[in-house]
Amino acid sequence: MTTLTESVQTTAPPTTFQDRVVAATPGDPRLEMCIQCGTCGGSCPSGPDMQHTPRQIFAMIRADMESEVLASNTPWYCVSCYFCMVRCPQEIHIPDIMYTLKGMAIKAEMYGERVAPDLADSFVGYVENYGRSFEFGLATRHYLRHQPLKLLGKAQMGLGMLTKDRLELTPTKIKQIEQLRAILQRAKAIEEAVS
Ligand code: SF4
Ligand code: SF4
Repeated sequence: MTTLTESVQTTAPPTTFQDRVVAATPGDPRLEMCIQCGTCGGSCPSGPDMQHTPRQIFAMIRADMESEVLASNTPWYCVSCYFCMVRCPQEIHIPDIMYTLKGMAIKAEMYGERVAPDLADSFVGYVENYGRSFEFGLATRHYLRHQPLKLLGKAQMGLGMLTKDRLELTPTKIKQIEQLRAILQRAKAIEEAVS
């Protein structure tokens, strides 16, 4: 039989930052099971560019350091390779938690750098307008906005791709783009309804 105390515990809204991260992540991410072993950070290909390793992020979540976590570039550098997750001894759903943190940072407008959100906005814009990504436009916008001095250095690689027919200079629209737009609109409506 369920006691009153158990009933209150299961129905109470999440209060700590960790509780809210867990509640916002699909399934059970097992975040509270982290034993701070550091295997995730040592496995992560993006680790050198992250301000905090996944292990540090999870310790900060546990310490209720919400602003610091949401301002960290770590979730934005996660490329969802799942390498950390397959090596984690506690089977913690690290990439899913990174997705949750990205969503929370967007809602709170608390990202330390605009680099990844700008890239995501450009990507979504191309998909909405053309039905597919447009690499030349994505790369040009990214370097002009954030690393203009590196643009010249990338020009040679771009020329090489052009000569091998691996790069298009103008975006092309897919057929029946209206169908895709209807799907995207429906997905946005569902997301708004559940958030
Ligand atoms: S590998 Fe798993 S248990 Fe170890 S620090 Fe990373 S998330 Fe925590
Ligand atoms: S899923 Fe993300 S955090 Fe995990 S190893 Fe890959 S890039 Fe790093």
